[in-house]
Amino acid sequence: MKEQIDAYTKRAIDHHDDGATGEYYRLLRETKKFHTTKCPKCEHTAYPPRPFCPACFHDEVDWVDISGEATLYAFTTQSRALRFVAPDVIGIVEVPGVGRIATKINAKLSDLKIGQKVRFEPFEVSDELVVHSYTPVG
Ligand SMILES: [Zn+2]
Repeated sequence: MKEQIDAYTKRAIDHHDDGATGEYYRLLRETKKFHTTKCPKCEHTAYPPRPFCPACFHDEVDWVDISGEATLYAFTTQSRALRFVAPDVIGIVEVPGVGRIATKINAKLSDLKIGQKVRFEPFEVSDELVVHSYTPVG
């Protein structure tokens, strides 16, 4: 199974790589930190990361670490997980300075409350694929 995920991941990243996607996954895998791109000209932080600024179209971006705390905005569960284990808990978290993103939540559905603090945690799906996830704080 892990070999299949790695092969699929490599093909997907190569296929979709716009100059930012490959770097995004490399940074997650190698640093275990959650990075995205920020425009040095207008300061707009983009997620998903972009090879250019989607706000002012400046063609250079900086990579910034957005690991840390976020706020749980919404959550649900899916009985048939796509990449993780079923049943899986997924949520929308509000990342300060970035906005709301969909992510894996590392908790039981019954333990969650809208508005609670969650913290970034790298989730290793396989050797090649590390994704973002969030765990409740405290
Ligand atoms: Zn900009």
